[in-house]
Amino acid sequence: METGFSAEFVLNKSVVTSSMEYYDISPVISEKLAVFPGDTAFKRRVVMDFGHGHHIGLSSIETTVHLGAHVDAPSHYHAQGQTIDSRGLHYYLGNAQVISVQLPRGERIRAEHFTGVAISAKRVLFKTRSFPDPNHWNDDFNSFSPELIHDLAKKGVILVGIDTPSCDPATSKLLEAHQAIFKNNMANLEGLILDEVPDGMYHLVALPLRIEGGDASPVRAVLWKKGGSDPWNS
Ligand SMILES: [Zn+2]
Repeated sequence: METGFSAEFVLNKSVVTSSMEYYDISPVISEKLAVFPGDTAFKRRVVMDFGHGHHIGLSSIETTVHLGAHVDAPSHYHAQGQTIDSRGLHYYLGNAQVISVQLPRGERIRAEHFTGVAISAKRVLFKTRSFPDPNHWNDDFNSFSPELIHDLAKKGVILVGIDTPSCDPATSKLLEAHQAIFKNNMANLEGLILDEVPDGMYHLVALPLRIEGGDASPVRAVLWKKGGSDPWNS
């Protein structure tokens, strides 16, 4: 969904007017949100609320860290992998390219699925439309071939993103694409919602929480149109 807003505020005693357009590419987090079968579903417990006469609203959550739009830490897929709190933030901030691919459900994406599209950013997000409802789990989503990951690494890509729950097929135990991401010291971004986002170049922000020892973190992933208004000045 595309959302826009305008803001007027005082900066260094001068009035700055700005507007920006962005795409929120994260699903809504609720107890309905599908998680990997067997993983801990999201639960929010309301401890206090105004409707019950409390002076504040207050709640706590229990959840897998692989929830909705999220990034894996290398410690999720490799015994020597870094945990999420020690990952560099450069992976998750910067230029990103959205590329649509069409392939049969359940298959891994290979270079032949987007021939003619040049890789022009350090972060590439693939739109497969193979996990259409974030609140309904389906096993036959698309994922990455390890060859594609190696190929993208050679082209300078540092982050791969996808609109499915995993970079590897749901049944994979070897996690070949995750291992290729590890070997190339890349990062991933999973569980995105890209339906409304046209192919092209964007600015990406998708920062993980600094969870000590964490094997992943949910993120609020957002894209700005590249060449549009300067997001850092908004
Ligand atoms: Zn994950």
